[in-house]
Amino acid sequence: MRLTAQEKRLHARLLRLFATIQMLIITGTYWGDEGKGKIVDLLSCLYDLAVRYSGGAGAGHTLQTPDGRRFVGHLIPCAIAQGIRCILGRGVFFDIRRFLAEIKDAKGALGKNLPPIWVDKYSPVWTPWHRLFEQWLEYSAGSGKVGTTGKAIGPLSGFNVLRVGLQVHHLFQDPKVLRNRLRRLYRALKPDFDQMVKLGIVRRKDIPLPTHVELALLKDAKKIRNMVTDTAFELSGAYTAGLHILFEGAQAPGLDIDLGTWPYVSAGHSVAAGAPIGTGLPLSAFAKAMVLMVMKALPTRVGAGPFPSEIWGRIQSEVFALEHPDLFKDTLARARFLAEKLALINSGKARLEDWSQYFQVLGYEKGATTGRGRSVGFPDLMWLHYAIRINGPKYFALTRLDMLSGLKIIPVVVGYKLDGKRLKRGEMPDTDDLARVEVIYEYWEGWRRDISGITEWKKLPLKTRQFVKKLEQRLGIPIVLIGTGPGRNHIIVRSVRKASNVTSVRRSSAAA
Ligand code: GDP
Repeated sequence: MRLTAQEKRLHARLLRLFATIQMLIITGTYWGDEGKGKIVDLLSCLYDLAVRYSGGAGAGHTLQTPDGRRFVGHLIPCAIAQGIRCILGRGVFFDIRRFLAEIKDAKGALGKNLPPIWVDKYSPVWTPWHRLFEQWLEYSAGSGKVGTTGKAIGPLSGFNVLRVGLQVHHLFQDPKVLRNRLRRLYRALKPDFDQMVKLGIVRRKDIPLPTHVELALLKDAKKIRNMVTDTAFELSGAYTAGLHILFEGAQAPGLDIDLGTWPYVSAGHSVAAGAPIGTGLPLSAFAKAMVLMVMKALPTRVGAGPFPSEIWGRIQSEVFALEHPDLFKDTLARARFLAEKLALINSGKARLEDWSQYFQVLGYEKGATTGRGRSVGFPDLMWLHYAIRINGPKYFALTRLDMLSGLKIIPVVVGYKLDGKRLKRGEMPDTDDLARVEVIYEYWEGWRRDISGITEWKKLPLKTRQFVKKLEQRLGIPIVLIGTGPGRNHIIVRSVRKASNVTSVRRSSAAA
């Protein structure tokens, strides 16, 4: 493929930053949907292999190729668009039907010749019963619902821990072993299914019997036989041979099973530390790994759970997106809506819902997996300090900075107060307390000019550069990539020298 002069420049700049990084872990920052797909797509051309290490089909990573084709990866790493070998590591909860559907989508969006894809033979396997059980859990939780993506990642993970269910290799072994495993899982769930039928949550005929599940799985298994392998073994060989490996995190720290806002979390390890466990590579292989955290200019959240800098409300935002589908398409009505809301915001008369609706529409904030409207928040330095503490990034990629164009001021959360007491930087209260913290704002100066599509740091308005520098100074981590649009080339690559001298700031503020 011939590269344009601009693409060659971009490639050279990326090489300068990442060429010596053999292991790169890309993670989210808030509650997911930060644009990891785009960053993985951008950087994967520098890597030999791309690996997903956690989560399942509930993730949704969107990328847009330079010629405008769009692909949403749920299980397959976004590196697929660059022709890089993709691996679904052992930590991935494997949904065979969705995987096959995704391959079909990928062929449609990216062309027939996909790179090789490997699936780990020990990954836990999805069945329709896991989905039914998730439905039951959400039903019985009443108002305490998690608001999951409905992809049954929780039940898959739970039954895996209970050692009930099956792994990918069971699909290719003695049929008796598979049959017994399926029957055991069905038996464990049967009382719950009976209860669901009794309460009218599901019809008896919609609960598949073990023989049906077995047949469906075996039919699909034939299509993936050549892709199944011991990926941990393969990765170990690749690492030893010096191949460069990119690790694509799913979701984000706020949704990590242990370090997120439990119980409103996904079931996997979304933080960077999930990479060794979810791939089977030893910790020593990660001694020199680099963590790149992808931070969205404005955080968003779907499902339930605390979101301190949230502008409006979860349900309201979901309903708003449902009731105004035309605003989430490129229509004249959308352009008019945005212009009116922006004028209102800059006049100082906007209500919080005006801010929220403006950002929601501007960012097409609807989940890639669920289609649910996402609720939007202001940048939140308190959460970011926590995310930095648990992820240890070397660099940040800041996506969607273009969304802040035209705002006179940008509210930024700089502190949390709990029962009148200000929390320390990096401190994180438990989930219930996080839901009731009082947030403290600073109002940072915005910029007027639209920065969409700008690819050079020096072409950004002075005030935009000041905003980015202030952000990285406060976080103590260089922001080396800046997204200015959804496309692969809508990116600014800063050399570390040009990124603010944040290391010294970090040291001095740590000492303070
Ligand atoms: P992920 O799950 O972290 O990959 O994020 P999603 O795919 O759910 O959402 C990211 C969305 O933002 C996708 O539609 C991207 O095309 C888009 N996107 C990524 N980076 C930028 C950016 O810098 N500017 C704009 N306007 N859109 C972006």
